[in-house]
Amino acid sequence: MKIYRIWKHGKIVESPSPGLFAGITTMKIFGRLTCKSGMRAKKEHRIFFLTWEDAIEAGYRPCKNCKPEKID
Ligand SMILES: [Zn+2]
Repeated sequence: MKIYRIWKHGKIVESPSPGLFAGITTMKIFGRLTCKSGMRAKKEHRIFFLTWEDAIEAGYRPCKNCKPEKID
C-alpha cells in the first residue's frame, strides 16, 4: 500500500490517501495532485496537504503552472 506524507499543523503524518494538494518541499510550492512539476519531483521531496489552509500555513504558495483552486 502506498503511504503519503501529509503535513498537518507542523507535523508529518502518514496516510494511505494523498489529500487534495501536493507540495514540493524544496520549492515550497503546492499544486494539484496531477501537477507535472510535482510529479517530476523526487519522492522524498513530495509532501501532501489535506486542505488549502494547511498548505498556506506551511508557507507554501500555489503553483503557477497547474493553478490549484481553493476548495471550500
Ligand atoms: Zn503545479
